[in-house]
Amino acid sequence: MTSVPDREPLTASDERILEAVAGGFPSAVDDLGRLVRIPGIAWESFDQEQLVRSSEAVAALARDTGLFDAVDIRRAPLAGGNGELGQPAVLAVRRAKAGRPTVMLYAHHDVQPPGDDALWETPPFEPTLRDGRIYARGAADDKAGVMTHIASLRAIAETIGSDDLDLGIVLFVEGEEEHGSRSFVPFLHENAEDMRADVIVIADSGNWDSETPAVTVSLRGNATFQLTVRTLDHASHSGMFGGAVPDAMMATIRLLSTLWDENGSVAVEGLAHRDAETPAYDEAQLRVETGLLEGVSPVGDGTILSRIWNKPTVTVTGVDFTPVASASNTLSPEVTVVISSRVAPGQTAAEAYAALEAHLRANAPFGAELEFGHVDLGDGFLVDTSGWAVAEERRALADGYGKEPIDYGVGGSIPFISDLVEKFPGAQILVTGVEDPHSRAHSPNESLHVETFRNAIRSETLLLARLDARDSA
Ligand SMILES: [Zn+2]
Repeated sequence: MTSVPDREPLTASDERILEAVAGGFPSAVDDLGRLVRIPGIAWESFDQEQLVRSSEAVAALARDTGLFDAVDIRRAPLAGGNGELGQPAVLAVRRAKAGRPTVMLYAHHDVQPPGDDALWETPPFEPTLRDGRIYARGAADDKAGVMTHIASLRAIAETIGSDDLDLGIVLFVEGEEEHGSRSFVPFLHENAEDMRADVIVIADSGNWDSETPAVTVSLRGNATFQLTVRTLDHASHSGMFGGAVPDAMMATIRLLSTLWDENGSVAVEGLAHRDAETPAYDEAQLRVETGLLEGVSPVGDGTILSRIWNKPTVTVTGVDFTPVASASNTLSPEVTVVISSRVAPGQTAAEAYAALEAHLRANAPFGAELEFGHVDLGDGFLVDTSGWAVAEERRALADGYGKEPIDYGVGGSIPFISDLVEKFPGAQILVTGVEDPHSRAHSPNESLHVETFRNAIRSETLLLARLDARDSA
């Protein structure tokens, strides 16, 4: 059926596995639709009962595979909280036999808020098939990740069978990834014995395009904080004192402008970048994928993908200041901004934050007072690609998609990966996913490319079958 040039042909058992995936695919799409209709959002302002329903639906799907010794819904206390519990996570465990490895399959069942309903072409929680894509909040991020695991496990149950399967499996589907995974570390701590694994598959990333798979090898970190700039202890009439004292917005504009050079590259000493080759990607493609307006130029230096994957960014994402409707001729005493920085893989978020704070303090104009707060740090990650599991992943992706995978960097962050590595230092990490450049995760009109979904399941099922046939060492 499928063959990949210069690769070993698929074996009869590979072919049987892919037939089982094909047979199960319509129900995988149906079950994805059922999950998508449950609007589980971890923000306090949304109905938290939906996350309970969503975790129950995932637990039922896990139980129905017939592969697990135990399937539980568990919660752990929030890190640094007063005992308040995090959102419900599904943890399903099957012990390994005969010296075979244990694989952890990670995804999350919570989703981003839908945002402005008016910007959606079809209702956000009603899965809609259009031009080979399924549109809905969570259709890609990350309910398709959940269903990739479930559908792969079903195909394994059908072809290998629960009695003959020796592979250990931990299915871990958390319920608050979009809200900062706030009970993640306590959860790992409380459930470490059940969760120990040799290989961890994180199905929450993307692909090069809808046909070409990717092995995610690097992720940027992030450092987000609030900065308040003060120049006066009270507001004054701009006609009386304007021109003689700096208002806070003037100081803020001059201060923020020091963060970039004329090209828009970050100009902060101490922010690192990573040297690594990047695949070709041209400005025309960047324009299409970002909607860059005609006449507006891109920013940064070096290859476009090195700017996105390997260099730091600084973005102002919020301002507290007088709204336009209430503006008057006044010198404002104080401005607060939110600064969000992406950190190059290889540098810790704490180091990057220290460099940003030092830069801002050194450049405060007119001696303006600065106050820093609400610092939120997440480390980036460089995947160790030397292990046998990455080689198996590359082979499974090539066979599942019928195309060689590309080594891929991610400009965004999955901070909990470094928590997993810290807790399970021996585990090999595989970051995979179902998204493609048109998925618009977190935005209105999020969608999943149906063929990518099918190929992701084909690849993961082949990977699991092959892990079941090898020693854990
Ligand atoms: Zn996600």
